[in-house]
Amino acid sequence: MSKQVKRWNIPVPPHLDRQLKEFIKKNAYKTQSEFIRTAVRDRLKEEFERLEKETKSHELQVTFENMNLAKIAKTLVSKGAKCIMCGTLFSERDIESYDHGSGISVKDYDKPQWVYMTCRKCHYQSALWKILNKFQRRAKGE
Ligand SMILES: [Zn+2]
Repeated sequence: MSKQVKRWNIPVPPHLDRQLKEFIKKNAYKTQSEFIRTAVRDRLKEEFERLEKETKSHELQVTFENMNLAKIAKTLVSKGAKCIMCGTLFSERDIESYDHGSGISVKDYDKPQWVYMTCRKCHYQSALWKILNKFQRRAKGE
């Protein structure tokens, strides 16, 4: 480890301390510090991924605020939306949606909607966020 380190001095309840010491004794982690560092790293990775997902769904929400499905389709098609799998251009009637907890709010629906477009050629269903990801990558020249 590098010489530049910060030291964490954090209070813990006795039972947590006991449990961890017991676990360290029985398992492969060499030290308590190593266990804690690994645990924090894993948790941070999870939390960053969750945050990224939330940010993405928030961006989607803002982009399509107050639109109904037809308007969303019109917007996507006007930007040249293509099937993620085979590259066939979508038409406005290819859009569909269903109730889904991680979806976006769409005008005329009470529940959040998972929005996607179905390819007429290969039948692959491209999720809205994937189509938008493609737009972003294209805009960046990737
Ligand atoms: Zn396709």
